[in-house]
Amino acid sequence: MPKCLYCQDENPPQEAECQNCGMPLPALADTAGARRQRSFLLFCIALTIFCAVMILWLPR
Ligand SMILES: [Zn+2]
Repeated sequence: MPKCLYCQDENPPQEAECQNCGMPLPALADTAGARRQRSFLLFCIALTIFCAVMILWLPR
């Protein structure tokens, strides 16, 4: 049972928002955070590859 962080009200599973106060439930917020973290990691990898290419490609 996902518990609302704001009003501590229990909600049925697979519910996106609290039935009592309408705030997003922590289960959904966690997946959104993980998705953001993953896109940030992909951005870091792309930046590293870009820097490596620039080091090799640009004249000294
Ligand atoms: Zn709530």
